[in-house]
Amino acid sequence: MSDHHLAAATRVVTLGRQARRPGAGVNAPLELSSTYIADGPVNYARAGNPTWSAFEEALGSLEGGDALVFASGMGAVSAALSLVEHQGPVVVPAHAYNGTTALLDDLEKSGAVRVRRVYVDDDRAIRDALRGAAMLWVESPTNPMLEVVDIGPLCKAARDLGVLTVCDNTFATPLVQRPLELGADVVLHSVTKYLSGHSDVILGALVTPTTDRGRALHERLARHRLLHGAIAGPAETWLALRGLRTLHLRVERATANAAELARRLEDHPVVKRVRYPGFGAIIAVEVRGKAEGAERVAAGTKIWTHSTSLGGVESQLERRRRHEAEPATVPKGLLRLSVGVEDVDDLWRDLDRALTASREGS
Ligand SMILES: *Cc1c(COP(=O)(O)O)cnc(C)c1O
Repeated sequence: MSDHHLAAATRVVTLGRQARRPGAGVNAPLELSSTYIADGPVNYARAGNPTWSAFEEALGSLEGGDALVFASGMGAVSAALSLVEHQGPVVVPAHAYNGTTALLDDLEKSGAVRVRRVYVDDDRAIRDALRGAAMLWVESPTNPMLEVVDIGPLCKAARDLGVLTVCDNTFATPLVQRPLELGADVVLHSVTKYLSGHSDVILGALVTPTTDRGRALHERLARHRLLHGAIAGPAETWLALRGLRTLHLRVERATANAAELARRLEDHPVVKRVRYPGFGAIIAVEVRGKAEGAERVAAGTKIWTHSTSLGGVESQLERRRRHEAEPATVPKGLLRLSVGVEDVDDLWRDLDRALTASREGS
């Protein structure tokens, strides 16, 4: 079925289904077979699986390209970085997902790549770093500082210099921003987060454009997945597709909650600074009382769960600097809030109580 005229809210529901024959299931099958009868389109499940194809059809359409599912977001990061030739320079934001920056550090130590770190508000430094680079890594908003970059001009600057752009779209989701339309060569998702949305699977994905250049990248990435072999399980993929069915509803509610909470947090006496880019459902809050104060807030909530990760239906919070890989430029008292879909007043009362109590406990 041609789907390009349908709204995203319709496509998340309708794509990745079985052909409509009498008696067919309305959902994609959960196909648990390692091998297939010979002479079909796929002969072994490390190369392909109907459950993967169903998920990839839906996500590919949402991002406007061809999707490949990976065992985790980091599996997708590894595959994307495999596109860099030996010792190629990679331009990466100073604040990016800490697994990505840690992997880049390891690859640099082993001599596989060279890393050029840039602050995303320093346009001049980015353009200088792009000269002779192999890859530009874009994350917007950045994790956890929530800096936003203008993706289109950056991709164009990279392309003019022959630099490949990968855009981690985990925080924004394809409902908010579609980097392929803005000129990115590869879009990356930690499907673990918003796309699956229920904190019950670890999964990743890459999406490439349907152009000749995009198809060539897709082939290399599919080969990486086939030969490196750390592939997604069909059961996880099936759960992710089930979660994806409500992406628009979850993102809509979580975003409305986040916007309201960001507004209320601005006036809270225990809050020093609120970072909220004006869209999405992640808020970064710097609290007074530094690391200890922030830890007391995280430990003091009853509805919000004190846990890492984001993008689930349940609200979560965490002080990011408890992770060693987080750079020193992230304030010690910064809490990252992933706002869920609960009632906003319940969320506010719980957070307000924990914030206030964090000061009394000091
Ligand atoms: C979580 C995350 C990743 C890594 O994904 P996993 O599924 O945990 O492997 C990559 N990028 C961003 C922005 C993330 O939030």
